[in-house]
Amino acid sequence: MAYVVLKRGRDGRARARHPWVYAGEIDTVAGDPAPGDVVDVVDHRKRFLGRGFINPVSSITVRILTWVEEEVDEPFFYRKLTAARNYRRAVGAEAPCYRVVFSDGDMLSSLIVDRYEDVCVVQTLALGMDARKTMIASVLRDILGVTRLYERNDSRARELEGLPQSAGFLGGEFPTEFWAQENGLSFWVDVAKGQKTGLFLDQRENHKAVAPWCDGARVLDAFCYTGGFAIHAAAFGAREVVALDSSAAALQTARLNAEKNGFGERMSLIEGNAFDLLRGFEAQGERFDLVVVDPPAFAPGKHAVGAAYRGYKEVNLRAMKILAPGGVLVTCSCSYHMRPEMFTAMLADAAADAGREARLVELRSQARDHPVLLGVEETHYLKCAILRVV
Ligand code: SAH
Repeated sequence: MAYVVLKRGRDGRARARHPWVYAGEIDTVAGDPAPGDVVDVVDHRKRFLGRGFINPVSSITVRILTWVEEEVDEPFFYRKLTAARNYRRAVGAEAPCYRVVFSDGDMLSSLIVDRYEDVCVVQTLALGMDARKTMIASVLRDILGVTRLYERNDSRARELEGLPQSAGFLGGEFPTEFWAQENGLSFWVDVAKGQKTGLFLDQRENHKAVAPWCDGARVLDAFCYTGGFAIHAAAFGAREVVALDSSAAALQTARLNAEKNGFGERMSLIEGNAFDLLRGFEAQGERFDLVVVDPPAFAPGKHAVGAAYRGYKEVNLRAMKILAPGGVLVTCSCSYHMRPEMFTAMLADAAADAGREARLVELRSQARDHPVLLGVEETHYLKCAILRVV
């Protein structure tokens, strides 16, 4: 077995069971492994630390998959994928649509599997995993009993691994657009062209968490995509729901979803830039009882945190200004680099500038089928704050 020797004093992360080994931590590589091969990671005294896939092109040069000296073969993937499935079952997250595998959260770095009823969408975002996707697909068929698999490897993250963008069927073809259920509501899913793998499954529990604030409320869902929060708000008794997004395609699906669930008459949809639209609402004196703000990641990297902070602050400030007294703001950030304490500090900053008093009712995270693995901070990326604003 080829192995990677870490520099003296650079084994702390691996010892703390973090699966990423950066290029700068590596002293030597022995045994001439091919890109994507399984290698051992050892400390400077050659003591075993972990075993994983190597990709010399990537700054994350080794992605550790196991802390014991076991084979990384098909039976290994059976065990790991069964464990991932069992975790979802144990925490009650085996919904009709859920994330079956969450990359590092399941100690399967770079592998993402989302299930939409009888369809599985697979992403293999690093080299070692990508090279094994056919085997992984066959294990998924066995364990989950699904026959319809689709690959969504059209992700920018793959560039860092020297991998091409690709998307398509893994095996036989099937319709890639269909109705699927989330929390008992119907959503039209397009696994081939939708954002992410079709739905924002990480928001499933947060969609439900707006329930106490909806009865009889006038609701604004900013950055609504296909209506995740908007449709739930209507189901929870909102009197009127205004939903906005910059994507015409997303809004078309949101309209379809509203009709399908029987909320067409209470829902209005607006296409445009949320920053401008929120400012417009303020100027027109529009007021809402509940505002949801769920923008895309403003901070794709550490370098962008400053600009992201300003973006988040601006949009949350605008949202607070159009809240009726005692109204509720549900506000999210899916940027890992925007850490939770930075996020709440930004909200305090926004409230001060808006001249409002905001109480943190709840600080939530991603749904439990996207497990946060302790010691691997990167797995904790979604923040969802519920604020009551007076
Ligand atoms: N809340 C949704 C997910 C939102 S994802 C759910 O729970 O399902 C973020 C959305 O923001 C995407 O649909 C994207 O099209 C939209 N978006 C990105 N930039 C925007 C902007 N400046 N104004 C309005 N919408 C924007």
